[in-house]
Order: sequence, then C-alpha cells, then structure tokens
Amino acid sequence: MGTPSQYTADVKGKVAVVTGGSRGIGFAIVKKFLENGARVILCGSRQETAERAVEKLKEENSEYPVSGIWPDLSNSSEIEDSFKRVKEEFGTIDILVNNAGISARDSIFNYKPEEFQKIMDLNVNSAFYCTKAVVEYMKEQEGGVILNTSSMVSIYGQPSGCGYPTSKFAINGMTKSLARELGKYHIRVNAVAPGVTNTDMVSSLPKEVIQPIIATIPLGRVGEPEDVANAFLYLASDMASYVSGEILSVDGA
Ligand code: NAD
Repeated sequence: MGTPSQYTADVKGKVAVVTGGSRGIGFAIVKKFLENGARVILCGSRQETAERAVEKLKEENSEYPVSGIWPDLSNSSEIEDSFKRVKEEFGTIDILVNNAGISARDSIFNYKPEEFQKIMDLNVNSAFYCTKAVVEYMKEQEGGVILNTSSMVSIYGQPSGCGYPTSKFAINGMTKSLARELGKYHIRVNAVAPGVTNTDMVSSLPKEVIQPIIATIPLGRVGEPEDVANAFLYLASDMASYVSGEILSVDGA
C-alpha cells in the first residue's frame, strides 16, 4: 500500500460499484473512476438504462472496463445476490458509491406519507442495504471505501419538500456512524454534499426557482456533475487515506 508520501489521486485496479450510475452525478463518477484506472460496475434502475449508459461509455472508449447491473434497490436480498455475483466475477469490491436518489418539493400541508416513504426507501434504505452487502467483503479484504451522495440541504434544510433533506441528514448520520464503526477494519466512509448541480434533477426545476439560488452562490454558477465527481475521486483514492466520517461540501461556496 506504500506510505502517504507515495499516494496518488487515482483508483487504479480498484473495483467500484456505483448506484444511480446511469446518468447525472452518478454517470460522471463512473466516468471519472474509469478515466483514473478503476473497473466499474454501474447500477441502473432498469436494464435498459444501465445498458445504454455502458454503451455510451464504450463508445467513448471501447477499452473501458465497465458493466451494468440493475438490482431492485428496495430489495435487500436482490442487492446481496447481485453484489455477490460482482464479487465472484471481479474478486473484490473496493469502492461502493451510494448515489441513487430522488427528491420532491411538496409542502408539508399536502405531503403524502407514501411519497415521504418513497424518498426514504431509495435515499436512505437502499444505501443501508448496499452498504450491508459489501461490508463483509471489505472486512475480509482488510479495507474499502464507502461513499454516499448527500446534499447541501443536509446542512441548511430547505423551505419545502422536507422528505429530501430528512433523507440526506440521515445519510450524514449513517456516514459518520459507520466511519466510527468500520475504521478498525480500514474501511473509510465519507459523503459528498453537492450544491445545485446541472443534472435532470435540477433541469426539471423552473427558472424562477433556479435563478435566485444561483444569485446566492459565491462562485456564480451551478455545479457540473464533473465538479462533484472530482470530489468522489479524491475521497475514493489513497490521497484521502486519513479522511473518514467527512461530509465534503461541493457547492461553490
Ligand atoms: P438524476 O435524477 O440525474 O439521477 C438520479 C439517479 O438515481 C439516476 O441514475 C437514476 O437511475 C437513479 N434512480 C432514481 N430512482 C431510482 C430507483 N428507484 N432505483 C434505482 N435507481 C434509481 O439526479 P442527480 O442529480 O444525478 O442525483 C444523484 C444524487 O445526487 C442523488 O442522491 C441526489 O440526491 C444527489 N444530489 C443532487 C443534486 C443536484 O443538484 N443535482 C444536489 C445535491 C445532491
């Protein structure tokens, strides 16, 4: 493994699983990891979206060692089976990125309980299931990296749609707690908290919502998925060898 003075910001030879890897921030993370030497298994919500994302990456570079899986992220045993097959095929899972997520902006006055549950199921429960499915492997191999996609709303909250920030506060709690629990196995657990980032999640917002937000960003622009992916690369690499339990803001401020 070398010493800290020899570490580099790459993930050469590492096997990474990225949920929500078919588009947006997840897709940028997958690409960044591939560019920096990892073998990547991206999880899509459906076979079609996973395969399309793999195809797109192969068109850019046919040598990229990337493949797709599409376990139902609400089903812990399906995730377990799917990750077991990854482990059998690739021999290891070194990096897990829990990135799949959804948001909603409903007011508490008309927030439907089932919508709140849907957000918690994907944003929190699936991260727990995926993490549970890799920790034994990482413990056995005496090391690993677990990264979660949080959000700047986990720091400030937001004035509507309380389910989304609730889920991201939970992710921060999981990140910090597991960092403390798993450190003795040399498993690092961190999160990245993006600010407003230029993906489908944001392009669906009306201009009158986005413009006032941009006006408050000191760097004067929304983030690009690559800005966020760079932070993931740092935290996944040995350069972050002594960083665990951190919620790294990437929000232009
Ligand atoms: P996106 O909508 O472009 O991508 C969401 C990803 O989650 C997709 O790959 C999608 O396939 C996956 N997904 C959605 N529902 C799923 C389901 N039921 N099962 C499996 N996968 C499912 O959004 P994004 O902006 O790239 O979001 C990625 C992460 O970044 C999320 O966790 C989100 O909360 C977080 N985030 C985004 C922003 C932003 O401004 N875009 C800011 C902070 C945090």
